[in-house]
Amino acid sequence: MLSIFRPHLRVASVLDLSTSWLRRLGLDHLLLDVDCTLKAYRDEQPSAEISAWLEAVRQQFQIVLISNGRAQRIGRFADSLDLPFLAEAMKPLPRKLRRAMRQHNMDPRRTAMIGDQLFADVMAARLAGVMSILVEAIHPEQERWFSRVKRAPQHLVLRLQRMPLLRDSEESAD
Ligand SMILES: [Mg+2]
Repeated sequence: MLSIFRPHLRVASVLDLSTSWLRRLGLDHLLLDVDCTLKAYRDEQPSAEISAWLEAVRQQFQIVLISNGRAQRIGRFADSLDLPFLAEAMKPLPRKLRRAMRQHNMDPRRTAMIGDQLFADVMAARLAGVMSILVEAIHPEQERWFSRVKRAPQHLVLRLQRMPLLRDSEESAD
């Protein structure tokens, strides 16, 4: 399977990514997808658990939100968390990932893109030359149709790859 479709690591949720594990993965900077990664599409705020995770992670890691969503909606979300963002990112194109890294002095070798979509987040990460971490989508049924149509081929590719969902103690990212 082409590596462009292959995440470096799969986890069930960002909540499985402890700060110590992220450190051991050699990371300083995180590019985070928004919809279905940090919150359900229709939610305005992340859950209490994910808010707490963000609070802990931002103490140690530089975070930029990177979403294909509209700037106004994603901007509202980012402002409420006081996090920098780039919206309308057109992932899988890597252009805005590269821009975010340039603007925020992020070293690509110490950066991961974390998201729920193989054909957007993983491809964009691979094309931008950063680590790719795939999470299981939060309430994908709420997404827009043009995102939902990609779920079936994503499941097929992931089944062929047979990559397990890892937890901290089972770490084996390449
Ligand atoms: Mg998403």
